[in-house]
Amino acid sequence: MRVEAPAKINLFLSVGPRRASGLHEISSVMQAVSLADDLRLDPAAGLGLSVEPPGAVPGGEDNLAMRAARALASATGATDGAALRLAKRIPVAAGLAGGSADAAAALVGLNELWGCGLSRKALEAVGAQVGSDVAFCVRGGTAGIQGTGEILAPLACRLPLWWVIAVPGAALSTAEVYARFDDLGGPGLGDPWEVADALARGDLDRLAASLRNDLEPAAEALLPGLSGAREALLAAGAVGAVQSGSGPAWMGLARDEEHAREVAARAAREFARVEVAQSLSTGARILAQ
Ligand code: ATP
Repeated sequence: MRVEAPAKINLFLSVGPRRASGLHEISSVMQAVSLADDLRLDPAAGLGLSVEPPGAVPGGEDNLAMRAARALASATGATDGAALRLAKRIPVAAGLAGGSADAAAALVGLNELWGCGLSRKALEAVGAQVGSDVAFCVRGGTAGIQGTGEILAPLACRLPLWWVIAVPGAALSTAEVYARFDDLGGPGLGDPWEVADALARGDLDRLAASLRNDLEPAAEALLPGLSGAREALLAAGAVGAVQSGSGPAWMGLARDEEHAREVAARAAREFARVEVAQSLSTGARILAQ
């Protein structure tokens, strides 16, 4: 079985205070995109995972796909095994939720392979125990996120959106970015209404003007090279630019596929890796059985 594990991007990420649980209150708009990992699953006696390229991410029990497999087994009582083969394409520790995407793909694939029969909603609940972005990666599409990430509401996205995803040659730890955010402070929890309305109306210019990420200054403080990311994407012709999650990935918004390819070609000089990606209406999904 082959499962696609799409990355997520944040079109809007406003961050409020840290709660007693240690997690921050957030208000966010997430979108699944066509930049995706590939997870293959075969029946096997035990549970195991291999990673391509080797060493790209931990291969054992620490891998989020393995943690998701264990969580599904304990939620359903499934005792079957599976051999998981993960081809990493999503840049690691870049703010694109690659680990959560793989966990979601494992849940969706193993639910089918093991015949667990859980609904998407039930899989989201299992995913929420594995990591904060896993429930979204199971659901996919475009969604508003509130609370500490546990409240998900689907949002309409009228147009297919084209993004240029630009990644510098460095990684950032999400925990370190949030810790730096606590030191620096932010503008306070904001309202994603402008973004949601622009998405529903298919108004690209308004969407470009309302992209926001409160973690940009914290990521830049840890990785000073990020300070030119917005200007580099705008100079390459993007209509808007914003950091994804805790970074260091940035996204430039393009008008259509052709425009995205032009922007990507120009931006390629400024970043270690540049990808063109389209918004998706799905999350992790089985491509072939
Ligand atoms: P977050 O979801 O916290 O925003 P991120 O998108 O910035 O994280 P990921 O690519 O998910 O980053 O990687 C975060 C960490 O998770 C890395 O240190 C990585 O070693 C670990 N990890 C565990 N399993 C995986 C996986 N399947 N794919 C990617 N990273 C994984």
